Amino acid sequence: MPVLWLAGLFTLLVCISITSITVWQLRQTRIHELEIANTTVANLSRSMAQHVDDAFDQAHIAVSSVVERLSFDGFGAASGSRMHDYLRATAASVQQIQGLFIYDKDGNWAATSLNHMPANANNADREYFRFHRSIASSLPHIGPAIQSRTTGDWIIPVSRRVDDEMGNFAGVVLATVELNYFEQFFERFDIGKHGVITLAMADGTVLARRPLIQNVRGTSIGDGELFRLYVREHYEGTANVVSMLDHEQRLYGYKKLDGYPMVVLAGLSQREVLDEWRQYAWRSLAIIICVVVANLLFGVLLFQQIRFGLNAESQLRIASHSLEKLALQDSLTGLANRRHFQEILSLEFRNGEPNLHPLSLIMIDIDFFKSYNDNYGHVAGDKCIVAVAECIRSNLNRTGDLAVRYGGEEMAVFLPYSDMQGAVSLAEKIRLAVLTRALEHQGNPIGIVSISLGVYGCRAQECQSMEDFVKRADAALYAAKHQGRNRTVAWQESTLLSALPAP
Ligand code: GH3
Ligand code: MG
Ligand code: MG
Repeated sequence: MPVLWLAGLFTLLVCISITSITVWQLRQTRIHELEIANTTVANLSRSMAQHVDDAFDQAHIAVSSVVERLSFDGFGAASGSRMHDYLRATAASVQQIQGLFIYDKDGNWAATSLNHMPANANNADREYFRFHRSIASSLPHIGPAIQSRTTGDWIIPVSRRVDDEMGNFAGVVLATVELNYFEQFFERFDIGKHGVITLAMADGTVLARRPLIQNVRGTSIGDGELFRLYVREHYEGTANVVSMLDHEQRLYGYKKLDGYPMVVLAGLSQREVLDEWRQYAWRSLAIIICVVVANLLFGVLLFQQIRFGLNAESQLRIASHSLEKLALQDSLTGLANRRHFQEILSLEFRNGEPNLHPLSLIMIDIDFFKSYNDNYGHVAGDKCIVAVAECIRSNLNRTGDLAVRYGGEEMAVFLPYSDMQGAVSLAEKIRLAVLTRALEHQGNPIGIVSISLGVYGCRAQECQSMEDFVKRADAALYAAKHQGRNRTVAWQESTLLSALPAP
């Protein structure tokens, strides 16, 4: 059944192809979505880093301008009203600066941009103050985020050392940059519900974060996968990691600031990035399941249809085979019918060519059969014909020998490859077999059914024509009848004459 297998295989192949193409396409669109998100976070982190860099640059410029002024006017000018106005105007012009401060060499407040200056305030304990007092460098210093003692806001100190004319430590100028400013800036961007933007020190200490989590400022994410594997090693890049703070899987873009020891991280939640893709994938899978099921159903139908067709075909073949058989077989005795006999004979006598091997024919006729019918009825007559046919069939043992119901109660045996002698001996065997059956026949003088047989046989190349061949066997049968029935007569040249009824 290769067609059935092919149909099954084809259906299966179609299902597998459709499914694999869809899965492959979904995989590709997923990769594409993640690539777009990667580009987005990379760009976002770059622009954030640029902005933060600029914000600190502006604070640094403000601090430097105050330092310049002090070195020009002398440290004594710090407590003047001009300086206060200058500090206030500068702080007001730079949004991210919360306040500008000048401390003397002991950490006491010398000036501030704020309206109120607390009495006896001293900042000598602050990290930036101790840093500048101990290190004689004019470079700006960015300190860790601290909570302002004056306002309570979280700030990052940007400071510079002030020297007197002798080069000795005279004090510190400080600008406080509000972390709040960055968080407000981060709020302007669309990063979804689970996205994150973080400003952290290079060691991983969080300075500002959107969304803000309780007590996150000052905590370290330096041990997280993002810092350990990526940020520490590279200047900028992207990474797909799980956040150590809220355990959300995100695509992160990160970039270190050019001028300050800080890093900006921008992350989009992978869940959110793939949200639309997931819906598309579910829809595609639902359609594919429908298509595959429909295809399988169609395959089953096709399978059944082909099987039905094949069954019908084989039944038709069987039917046509039986029809063929019926057309060549006698229905009562199961022997070949006269048509079959004629066909076989025509093959032997094709185109009038001489026979290549010996041929023999036995013609058989039941004796006194008319009276058998009269005595026992037609049905019994038929049974008698069948019994004689069985006697004939049971004595044939060579392939190629053909027993025929020639017509009525007349039968024949065609024996290719047998000469007359062999045919006569077979005829006798058949005759005796019928007698042995001893079927009662009152109309026959011997009391049982008997048959008469006429035999004709010709050697190779000797048969004249099909008609003569049959006619001679017939004549021999006629002679057998004439000679008293229940006998076998072989054809002889004289048979025909002796068999002819007297004129
Ligand atoms: P003979 O010994 O000379 O052969 O005498 P007979 O009575 O047998 O004569 P014949 O061979 O001419 O007999 C033909 C008879 O056979 C005629 C018919 O009643 C009978 N017969 C022919 N065909 C059938 C048949 O198919 N069934 C039955 N029951 N009888 C048949
Ligand atoms: Mg007869
Ligand atoms: Mg007859």
